[in-house]
Amino acid sequence: MRDRLEALCRDGIAAVSEAKSADALQEVEIHLLGRNGALTALLKGLGKLSAAERPAAGKLANEVKQALQQAVEEGRCSLAQAELAQDLSGVGMDPTLPGSDLPSGGVHPVMAVARELEDLFSSMGYVVWDGPEIETEAHNFDDLNIPTDHPARESHDTIWMQDHGTSGRLCLRTHTSPVQIRALQKFGAPLRVIAPGRVFRQEAQDATHEHTFHQMEGLVVDKGIGVPHMLHAMNSMLEGVFGRQLETRLRPGFFPFVEPGFELDARCPFCKEGCKVCKGSTWIELMPGGLVHPHVLLSAGLDPQVYSGFAFGLGLSRMAMLRYGIHDIRWMMSGDLRFLEQFPA
Ligand SMILES: [Zn+2]
Repeated sequence: MRDRLEALCRDGIAAVSEAKSADALQEVEIHLLGRNGALTALLKGLGKLSAAERPAAGKLANEVKQALQQAVEEGRCSLAQAELAQDLSGVGMDPTLPGSDLPSGGVHPVMAVARELEDLFSSMGYVVWDGPEIETEAHNFDDLNIPTDHPARESHDTIWMQDHGTSGRLCLRTHTSPVQIRALQKFGAPLRVIAPGRVFRQEAQDATHEHTFHQMEGLVVDKGIGVPHMLHAMNSMLEGVFGRQLETRLRPGFFPFVEPGFELDARCPFCKEGCKVCKGSTWIELMPGGLVHPHVLLSAGLDPQVYSGFAFGLGLSRMAMLRYGIHDIRWMMSGDLRFLEQFPA
């Protein structure tokens, strides 16, 4: 009995592996395991064994049945795979190859910094606002207390448009400060606003100068606003970018649209004794700012006797460079994937 069962198992598995189609496999299955199949016929012989032999033979018969069932299942699977591969071979596809990753985009380093700051300032009650990149001469200069003959205009290397608008000459905005005027005219006071965006200058390009770069303007106008409020906002911004508080200092600075004006410097986040980034001084010039000039408030239709405010500007491109250790601003707008792929989403 034992020999016959073992032979059935061996021959059965061989027959399964030789079946080349689903129909052939089914025939083999019926022949082996069907109601009138070979295994059933053998099992009928169990009754003729002695009571002592029967348990071992029954156990073996069960094992043979399971082995044959498993062989048939596996045969069915490999036939189905082969059939699928056959179907797909015509369309040039190999279903057994591993899948390939879908490329996914990342966030540009400037946008990453801008988004974080937008979240931070939104949480402090600021509106995020933007203005047009083609700006009127009035908004870009005059309303910000920079009249035609003002020397500050020369430092802006403005790109002028050939056609004039209905309200005077047009230029590509040289800073995000015109959004101060636009936001004040739209919302009035009290107001807290930040304005991130692209600005343009006709600069000779090098590692620190680019014709297109990003700034973020901040403006708060209310009653009783002073320098401490400005310092708090600027320090919050730096903490947002660098993830920790930096030591800062204020120096007097001149910007036509603020009075008094300041330069905010921060301790170099990269060194203790001077490095290339801080040019050996351990301080980095980071943000100009100051109290809003009365002329700017008047341009926006506000009474400087009632309202005061502060404004600050931030080089977003420069912040991103400092944060990520990028040494050449020209990478920022290069569109070069070798650069961009280093900033995954
Ligand atoms: Zn340094």
